[in-house]
Amino acid sequence: MPIKENIEYVKRLKAQAAQKSGRTGDDVLLVAVTKLHDVDEINEAIDCGITDIGENKVQEIMSKYDRVKPVRWHLIGHLQTNKVKYIIDKVSMIHSVDSLKLAEEIDKRAAQHGLTMDILIQVNSAMEESKFGITTEETGQMIQDILTRCPNVRIRGLMCIAPFEDNPEDAGIYFEEVKKLYDEYGRIDHPNLDFKYLSMGMSNDFEVAIEAGSNLIRVGTMIFGARDYSKKQGE
Ligand SMILES: *Cc1c(COP(=O)(O)O)cnc(C)c1O
Repeated sequence: MPIKENIEYVKRLKAQAAQKSGRTGDDVLLVAVTKLHDVDEINEAIDCGITDIGENKVQEIMSKYDRVKPVRWHLIGHLQTNKVKYIIDKVSMIHSVDSLKLAEEIDKRAAQHGLTMDILIQVNSAMEESKFGITTEETGQMIQDILTRCPNVRIRGLMCIAPFEDNPEDAGIYFEEVKKLYDEYGRIDHPNLDFKYLSMGMSNDFEVAIEAGSNLIRVGTMIFGARDYSKKQGE
């Protein structure tokens, strides 16, 4: 599989989309989503310049971690509180914080390791029942609660998964809504809030997401090809 060419292609599209909103490709971080892809493919992507990878299952991070070359790991999928302890010292950011209970567990485990964990709050702006994340209305309160109760957590921004649309342009409204929240809450003055990442956009909709203001895209299929779900493991 031509991973190198795929990465170059994604980077080209990323740069074009960024230019449409007055930015450059370097303003948008590409996180290569490596779930269900094996270590050799991941290492090949790293050799091609990938600096950040995303996984959505704790168990998959655990099973690959020691064999992957140095890279920043992102936990992008739903995280159960009882699994935080396994990845707290492995990932550089958790994108999928959607409850105070989860933030408190991250805080507790981060304290035990003497670190501060970077997190994003997952906002489900389309209010799809099938997806995790809090509503746009709940976002402000969640941020305040985490800032009050989780001193070892640093809120770096927001994350959103838009509904799958046959026409990706239709996802734009969901991204724009989260961008508004990002601009609003990014102004909060607090030592544990330092907005830098608006994590929006996957293979099918990342250009639309970038045009709406995303500065971090999570791309799997367009880099590695289709995933083989028969390899699927537990969470
Ligand atoms: C799998 C996944 C992606 C990547 O999806 P592709 O369509 O393969 O690019 C992005 N974000 C999350 C949260 C995912 O689980």
